[in-house]
Amino acid sequence: MSPVDDSVKGMAERVKTGQISAQSLVSSCFQYIRQVEPKVHALLAHDEELAMEKARALDRLPLSERRELRLAGIPLVVKDNLVTEDLDTTAGSRILEGFRSPYTASVVKRAEEQGAIVVAKSNLDEFGMGSSTEHSVYGPTMNPWDFSRVPGGSSGGSAAAVAAGMAPLALGSDTGGSIRQPAAFCGIVGIKPTYGRVSRYGLIAYASSLDQVGPLARTVEDTALLLQVISGHDPLDATSAQMPVPDYLAQLDRPLQGLRVGVPREYFGDGIDANVKMVVEDVLERLKQEGVSMVEIDMPHTQYAVAAYYLLAPAEASSNLSRFDGVRYGLRVPAGDLRTLYQRTRAQGMGDEVRRRVLLGTHVLSAGYYDQYYVRAQKVRALIRRDFERAFEQVDLVVTPSAPELPFALGSRADDPMKMYLSDICTVTANLAGLPALSVPAGFESGLPVGIQWIGPAWSEDLLLRVGRMVERVVVRPPWPKL
Ligand code: GLN
Repeated sequence: MSPVDDSVKGMAERVKTGQISAQSLVSSCFQYIRQVEPKVHALLAHDEELAMEKARALDRLPLSERRELRLAGIPLVVKDNLVTEDLDTTAGSRILEGFRSPYTASVVKRAEEQGAIVVAKSNLDEFGMGSSTEHSVYGPTMNPWDFSRVPGGSSGGSAAAVAAGMAPLALGSDTGGSIRQPAAFCGIVGIKPTYGRVSRYGLIAYASSLDQVGPLARTVEDTALLLQVISGHDPLDATSAQMPVPDYLAQLDRPLQGLRVGVPREYFGDGIDANVKMVVEDVLERLKQEGVSMVEIDMPHTQYAVAAYYLLAPAEASSNLSRFDGVRYGLRVPAGDLRTLYQRTRAQGMGDEVRRRVLLGTHVLSAGYYDQYYVRAQKVRALIRRDFERAFEQVDLVVTPSAPELPFALGSRADDPMKMYLSDICTVTANLAGLPALSVPAGFESGLPVGIQWIGPAWSEDLLLRVGRMVERVVVRPPWPKL
C-alpha cells in the first residue's frame, strides 16, 4: 500500500511529534517503490541506504529542532535534471550517464534543509525536450492510470511517481509545459512559478529564459507547501528575484470574492479535444455557481506561440548544450583530434530529439537566418506578453485546458515530432510571458485525468493556489489507482 495516506502537513506533523519516525516513513516508501516501480518506471537513481541514513539523522534530532522542519521526514522525488551530490544526474541522456555533480541544486538543498528526504531522481525526456517522457534514453515512463499511455513530459517521472503514491512530493522543471502537462496527464497538481520566483541554480539549463523549477503534488495544499520552501531569492542565481515570498499556506482558504476570470477563445477552439473541452467547461460552470464571473476574451497572438517557442527554445538549447563536449562532463568517445572527439561523443551521447533541437537552434541563430527566425520569434514573444497584459487589465486570471488532449498511447507520436510539439499549445505562452501557471485536476474522461490551467499576472502564485483550492472543492475525483 502507498505510504502516502495523509497530507504532507499531516505526515510531517506526525514525524515532528514523534508519532512516527522518518525511518519508518522512508522505509515503507521504498517497500512500496519496489512493488510498483517495475510497472511505472518513473525513477532513475535511488539509494535506499543513503535515504535511510538521512532519515536516521533526522530522527536523532532533538524534538525542538525537528519541530521547525516544514517537511520533516517527507519523501521527495527530484527530476533528474536537477543536480545532486549524492545521487547521479543524467538528464535522461546517455552523454551524462554516471555523472556525479560536485554540488546540489539550491531547490533540493532548501527542501532538505526543511527535512525532506530525497528518495529518488525521476525519469524525464532527455534534457527536458519532449512531452511524453518517451525521449529518455533510459526508457519511457508509464501513466499510472493506464500503463499503455504516456504520463506526459518532460517531468513525467516526477508526475507518475506522485500519482502512483511513491512519494507525496516531487520537483519538476517547466520550459514549455513540463510540469503542468504531466501533472494534468497524471491527475495531480503542478505549478510553474513566475520566472525568477525559484532558483535555477543546479538546474541543467535547457532554455534559460524560459526554464523554471516547480513542485508537483497530489493536492494544492501540498503543492503550496513545497513552493513555499523552494521560493525566494538565491544569490547563486542572478535571475532569481529579490521579491518577498508570501505565506501561501496561510492564504489558501481566504475567500475569493468578485473573481473575474478570462476565458480566451483561442484556447477552446480548433485542436482541443472535445472531451477535454467538455470537462473543463463543466468546471467553469460550477465555478460560476460559486460566484466567479467568466469573461470571454481574445488573445490573438496565441496562434503563433508554438512556432515561436520551437524557434527560441532550440536556439537557447543549442548554446546551453554546447558544454557537453566529451571533455568536461560524462561520456567521452576518444578520437585522434578534438573535433572528431566532439563529433563522436555528441553523436553517441545525444538522442535524436536532442540533436534535432541543436541543429534547429544552430540554424535559426546562423547568419542570414537570425533576423528571419530568431528575431521574429522574439517579436512574437513580446506580442504574447502584451496579450496577457491586456487581458489582466480586464480580468484577474486566465483559464485554459492544461493540455489539448487526453494522455495519448505510448509510441503513438514517436515518428511525428510536429504532433508532439502541438501538445504544448496550451502551456508555452506562460513561459514565453514569464507568468505563473497552475494545473489542477478538472475531472476524468474515460478513466483518464484532465487538467485545467490557471495563468496569472507575475507573482500571483498565492491567487492561483487559492483558485486551485476552489477547483478541488467542486471537482469529484475517483480514488487513486491501486497498483
Ligand atoms: N514539450 C516542450 C519541449 O519539448 C516543453 C518541455 C519542457 O517544458 N521542458 O520543449
